Amino acid sequence: MSSDTLLIIGGGPAGLEAARGAADLGCKTILVERLSRLGGTPISANYAALTHGMRDASEVMGEMIAAVDGDPLVDIRLNTSVTACTGAAGAFSVTLTRGGTDETVSVGAVIVATGFEHFDPGRANQQYGYYMYDDVLTLQDAEKMLKEKNFVRPSTGKPPERVCFIQCVGSRDRRIGNEYCSKVCCGVASKQAIEIRQLLPNCRVFIFYIDMRMYGYWENEIYWPAQEKYKVSYIKGVISEIVMKGDRLMIRGEDTTMNRPMEVPMDIVILSNGMEPSGGTKAIAKTLGLRQNTYGFINVAHDTLDPVSTSVPGVFVAGAAAGPKDLDDTMGMAGAATMKAVGAIRRMARGAAIKA
Ligand SMILES: Cc1cc2nc3c(=O)[nH]c(=O)nc-3n(C[C@H](O)[C@H](O)[C@H](O)COP(=O)(O)OP(=O)(O)OC[C@H]3O[C@@H](n4cnc5c(N)ncnc54)[C@H](O)[C@@H]3O)c2cc1C
Ligand code: SF4
Repeated sequence: MSSDTLLIIGGGPAGLEAARGAADLGCKTILVERLSRLGGTPISANYAALTHGMRDASEVMGEMIAAVDGDPLVDIRLNTSVTACTGAAGAFSVTLTRGGTDETVSVGAVIVATGFEHFDPGRANQQYGYYMYDDVLTLQDAEKMLKEKNFVRPSTGKPPERVCFIQCVGSRDRRIGNEYCSKVCCGVASKQAIEIRQLLPNCRVFIFYIDMRMYGYWENEIYWPAQEKYKVSYIKGVISEIVMKGDRLMIRGEDTTMNRPMEVPMDIVILSNGMEPSGGTKAIAKTLGLRQNTYGFINVAHDTLDPVSTSVPGVFVAGAAAGPKDLDDTMGMAGAATMKAVGAIRRMARGAAIKA
């Protein structure tokens, strides 16, 4: 018998928006999150301000959580994983596991919203000494300090005078097999550069880039103000190594506009590390039998015409589980996945065939 319940896996921005939308459409939903808290990576990784609007991440995500928490149509399961799935569209039988206890639920459709994880800059071929030097950070390390409004050199506890970002760490890099652009790191580095200048007006901030990739509001709201109002220096260049000189970091590379070598001292270097599919995304792809792309993100039917259907009928995907995305794209995709998933459940209840 077909089920009128929708299963959403992942309680980040995509899963929360899908749950809110499904409840608005009057559809019963089970929202499964493997951590003890909803809110996704912006909460678990302690992000500071979120674009657009530069509002505190806890506040923004708190509003999204409040929109589903307590809704009688949304059954929230924390600390829970999906460990098995049988059946087909309209009548999936799914095993939910929490603390060693299994429960089987029947659902008509599934939305996978299991998100991303940050590229580990210590992985092979990375020459930037992330695990060697205290003052070499990642974007998520910087987010945490900015959230605490305490942006200091980890090695000394003192405010830095010179900070730089190195773009495209773990993305657009054929040597490590991540040829794709992570889409958000140019914007996020520029956002953090603004936040650093707001906290420490005397600190000089540099961004070393291959080319800056901004789209939508990121261009006018973040990139231009970073240069014009906050005097962040953007330098087209390739950084080949970081070494210690005295108590400072020395970055070495090439200024590709001037076509000359450069060696510049810094107090903090932030590696703009990219997005990779989360462990949970890879695991759920196996459990549900979903096709993945070369990088492990969930494959969609068509990147532009049908960006939410997966290789399994009745299973849809939203957010960064399908590839790098900002919140703007994540929310749009969650809405589209909800419409398709609830539509599939309703069609099946009428005895009609599911549409891809
Ligand atoms: C440093 C940084 C800063 C950023 N700042 C901004 C910004 O200012 N503005 C902006 O627009 N975008 C920003 N982004 C992008 C933004 O974080 C993503 O667009 C957004 O988090 C994607 O949401 P999601 O729900 O798809 O994934 P996630 O946020 O990763 O959420 C996925 C959720 O699924 C859960 N999960 C994973 N696997 C399973 C499983 N198998 N079972 C159950 N649950 C599971 C996870 O625990 C998590 O809660 C930033 C990204 C980075 C790296
Ligand atoms: S968004 Fe910018 S830093 Fe990130 S991979 Fe793309 S070009 Fe590189």
